[in-house]
Amino acid sequence: MTGQRAAQLAERLAAVENRVGSACRAAGRPREQVTLVVVTKTFPASDVLALVRLGVRDVGENRDQDAAPKAAQVAAALAAAPGDGPLPRWHFVGQLQRNKAASVARYADVVHSVDRLRLVGALDRGADAAGRVLDALLQVDLDESGAAQGRGGAAPDELAALADAVACAPALRLRGLMAVAPLGADPLQAFDRLAGLAQRLRADHPQATWVSAGMSGDLEAAVACGATHLRVGSAVLGSRPLLQ
Ligand SMILES: *Cc1c(COP(=O)(O)O)cnc(C)c1O
Repeated sequence: MTGQRAAQLAERLAAVENRVGSACRAAGRPREQVTLVVVTKTFPASDVLALVRLGVRDVGENRDQDAAPKAAQVAAALAAAPGDGPLPRWHFVGQLQRNKAASVARYADVVHSVDRLRLVGALDRGADAAGRVLDALLQVDLDESGAAQGRGGAAPDELAALADAVACAPALRLRGLMAVAPLGADPLQAFDRLAGLAQRLRADHPQATWVSAGMSGDLEAAVACGATHLRVGSAVLGSRPLLQ
C-alpha cells in the first residue's frame, strides 16, 4: 500500500461522503439513516485495509472466489494490527450460486442478493453450520421491459413467498429489499417503485426496514427515495476492468 493510493482513496471517499451528505440534506434525512457500503470487488485487500483506516465500516463484494480470501487476509492483517480499526462488516452484493452459500455464510454479515427460494435453505444451513446469523435482503428485479440483464433479482410478485421463507429461517434475519436500477431507466422512478415494494413488505414484516439501492452513478436518487444502504464502488476505488 503506497501512501499515494491511501491519499487517493481518502480524497474520493471524502467526495462521496459529500455527495451523500448533500443528498441527505436535500431529502431532509439524517445522515445516520444511510449506511455507505464501499464495494471493493476486483480491488486488493490492501485497499480494504486502507479504507478501514479511513473509517469505513462496511465493504461489499460480489464474487465468493475473490471475497473469501480477501476477508481472510483483512482479518489476519487487523488481528496483527488492531490499532488500524475494527473488522469491517462484509456485504455480499452479487448473484449467489447455491454451492457458494456455505462459503459466503462464513464471512458475510449481510447478503443483499437473496432472490430465490432454493438459496434460502442453502444460506440458512450454511449460517447455522458456521454458528452465525446473517442479515438478508431480498433482491428484486425492477426491470419492466422484459430485457433480462442477468443481474438477478426476484420478480415483485415472488417477494411475499421469499420473505416468508427468510423470516422462517432460524439463521437468517429478514432485513429488507435490494435493487439495481435497470439500465436506461430513470433511477428516481425505479427507486420509487422499490420504495413502494419495501412498504408493502413491511406490512407483513415490520422489521424489514432496510432498502439497499444506489451506486456511484445514482446514489442521490436512492437517498431521495429512502434508501438506507448505498453500494458505492468506482466513485471511491476507481474504474474496474470491464464486466465486473
Ligand atoms: C459493483 C456493484 C456496485 C457498485 O457499483 P459502482 O457503479 O461501481 O458504484 C453496486 N451494487 C452491485 C450489486 C454491484 O455489483
